[in-house]
Formats: sequence, C-alpha cells, structure tokens
Amino acid sequence: MPNTYDIAVIGGGIVGLATAMELSKRPGLSLIVLEAEDHLAAHQTGNNSGVIHSGIYYKPGSLKAKNCVAGRVAMYEFCAENNIAHDNCGKVIVATHEDELPALERLFERGTANGLTGLRRLKGEEIKEYEPHAAGIAAIHVPQTGIVDYVGVCEAYAKIIQIAGGTIQTNSRVTGFHKSGSEFVLDTPQGEVTCRNLINCAGLQSDRVARMCGVDPGLQIIPFRGEYYELVPEKHHLVKNLIYPVPDIRFPFLGVHFTRMVKGGVEAGPNAVLAFKREGYKMSSISIKDMLQFTFYIGFWRMASKYWKTSIGEFYRSFSKAAFVKALQRLLPELQYDDITRSGAGVRAQALDPKGNLLDDFSIVQAEHMVHVLNAPSPAATASISIGQAIAEMASQNFNL
Ligand SMILES: Cc1cc2nc3c(=O)[nH]c(=O)nc-3n(C[C@H](O)[C@H](O)[C@H](O)COP(=O)(O)OP(=O)(O)OC[C@H]3O[C@@H](n4cnc5c(N)ncnc54)[C@H](O)[C@@H]3O)c2cc1C
Repeated sequence: MPNTYDIAVIGGGIVGLATAMELSKRPGLSLIVLEAEDHLAAHQTGNNSGVIHSGIYYKPGSLKAKNCVAGRVAMYEFCAENNIAHDNCGKVIVATHEDELPALERLFERGTANGLTGLRRLKGEEIKEYEPHAAGIAAIHVPQTGIVDYVGVCEAYAKIIQIAGGTIQTNSRVTGFHKSGSEFVLDTPQGEVTCRNLINCAGLQSDRVARMCGVDPGLQIIPFRGEYYELVPEKHHLVKNLIYPVPDIRFPFLGVHFTRMVKGGVEAGPNAVLAFKREGYKMSSISIKDMLQFTFYIGFWRMASKYWKTSIGEFYRSFSKAAFVKALQRLLPELQYDDITRSGAGVRAQALDPKGNLLDDFSIVQAEHMVHVLNAPSPAATASISIGQAIAEMASQNFNL
C-alpha cells in the first residue's frame, strides 16, 4: 500500500467506481476508493429501478443526453462481456390524456435528435401489441430501453479496479480533510489516507464533502425519496416489460411507472417525496441536522413556493396506497388495490440552486487537484461508463496525469 495515493475517490457508488475503473487503466497510478458503508452501491445505486435508459428524455446537447446515449451502448456491451444479468426489452411511454400529446411528441423529437432509431409512434389500440393490459390514447415504443442488475455491474467494476492494482476500502467514511504540504489528508474511521488528488463522488453527501474540502458547491443536495410497490406474483402477467407515463417536464423525475426487474417480479413506482433525512428510506426517517440544513437554505423555500401543490400530492400518495393505485391505474386500468404490496425505497440526491431550481443536468465542479461530482441523478447509472470516462479525462488534465 503506498503512503500517498495519486488519487482518492470518495464514494463507492456506480459513478465513483466507474471513474476509478477508467483511471485504473493507466499504468503506474495508485488509486483508492473510500466507501462510507460496509458494502459498495449502498445508496442510490443499490436502490434504483434497474433501468438502462435510452436517452429519449434529455435535452439534445446536454451532458445527460450525450452520456446516456454513449453510456447505454457501453453498458450493454459491458454486461454482455461480464455476464451480468440484463435484458434489452424496450418500453412504452403512454399518454392517457389529450393534454399529454404535445409532450409525447416532444419526446419523440428529442429521442430522434439524440440519435435513437426505431422509435415507433403508437395509436391507442397499438399499445396492446407491446403491453396487452396497458391503456392510453397514444404512446411511443422505445426499443433501446432495458433492465439490468446495477449491483452486479458495480461488483464487476470493483473487480476490474482491484485486478489493476487499485484499493477499495469500505467502512471508510471521510469525515475530515486537511492539507499537508502539497498533499491532502483524509480522516476515516480506519485512519488517515493521504493523496495528491481527490475525486468526490459522494452522492447524497457530495455537497458536504465539497464544503469539507474548502470548495463552495454553489448548491445544496435535497433528498427525494422514491417509494416502490411490487405487483403480487399472480399479477405479474399484467406487465410484460416497462410502462411509463409522459413525464411532467417541470420536474427531473419520470412519474410512477411499471418496471419488470431483471431478477424477477415487477415494481411500481417510484414516487418523489421530500425526505427528512439524506439517507431516509422510511417515512419515519428524520435527521434534525439534514432538515435544518435545507430549511435554512433560501433555494429550498423558493422551490417550495413553486411546487407546493405537487409536493402535497406526492406526500398524500406516499401515505395513501389508494392514491398510489389510482395513479398507476391511469396506465393499467385493471390494477386493483390488493394487486400491489409495499416494497423498498431509494433516495435521490437532487441538487437545488439558490434560486430554487432543481438542477436538471449533471454538474461537476473542479478545484486545484480536485474534481467534485455534485449532481449525478438518473440516468447516471445507465451513463456511468461514459461519465466515468469524462471525469477521468477531466482528472487527467487537472491532475497533470
Ligand atoms: C429511486 C431511484 C431510482 C433510480 N432509477 C434509475 C434507473 O432506473 N436508471 C438509472 O440510470 N438511474 C437511476 N437512478 C439514478 C442512479 O441510481 C444514480 O444517478 C446513481 O446511482 C448515482 O450514483 P453515485 O455513485 O453518484 O451515488 P451513490 O450510489 O449514492 O454513491 C455515493 C456513495 O458515496 C458514499 N459516501 C457518501 N459520503 C461519503 C463519505 N463522506 N466518505 C466516503 N463515502 C461516502 C455513499 O455511502 C455511497 O455509497 C435512480 C435513483 C433513485 C434514487
């Protein structure tokens, strides 16, 4: 083990691991990944929907669009080469009301502009060719979408890092930072780790880690919990693959949908409820520190004044299964109250700026010998190989590798 690592990556989620995997290809570079929890992919990555996104949703030219499209292709190749469970099954995005038709058409145009081929506009009755139990007035079939085991992907990334000589250290939450000459010293429960350069991929804690390192992130992470239900086994036949609504373009979330999971079963959700704790997986999870931090942030109140109606609706749906079922019945009218049972949850790290805007695109801030990944929401899992390459490239230039 070197006394001083060339690079320390903080965070063993899919973005930190993909970045470390890319950097580990450079001979002679010493590298450590520090993960707070006792296993990798413990937060967003291990609790997401497991979808390989196509790239249809994102503004052409945005980092999300470029990295999702390139990352999707790379993800399918990586899964095939490394025997990771995945299925390029396609999905339908379904409009259930006339008001949604312009937004559906915009998605088709965006998808085309982002290079997706084979998108198919569907009339109401044609939806049944793909999803016999779904209903709507129009839809788009997206052949590029798929499902995957992202925890399996992370395990494969970690293996590649270790084979190349990189170190992965769990139970190593970085709690302190100081400089010693030209080196950085990071405090962890397992002792100090010294490095020449660092990359912050700490997800829900990324703004705090940036501040700890003396960098103003210019934003605050707000946690949004996404709760899932699961279809009872007798009703799995209602969903063949993935059924999504037309998303509300004002929000960076996609709306509750149905997802067949690669390990079996069908999930419904996730919603998007403000969480009272950054790693708050239950309705009862509360952290006074986390709540104080966002209630003292001007951007939070500006966001709340814009979106309070939607937030109340999301809270109601979080407490009321009947309301959740009603939202799902728009896509799948046959669904009944007893057809779904509560399942897990994930918490999204969503960056909010002081004006109250939910940042839509990926956001990466650099300082001397540091790269801070501050907003890496969905589709960052899909895009991880491409984002990892982009961050490694930034690091190469910034760190003079
Ligand atoms: C409900 C939900 C559904 C989603 N669905 C999809 C989907 O279907 N497809 C898709 O592409 N994307 C999806 N996403 C988005 C995707 O999961 C995330 O964009 C991606 O996982 C982000 O990865 P990350 O490595 O940045 O964050 P994380 O996976 O959260 O990793 C950050 C890591 O940093 C560690 N950490 C934090 N603080 C410290 C510290 N001080 N020291 C050391 N380590 C620290 C944490 O323990 C954590 O393991 C979804 C997200 C959610 C929440």
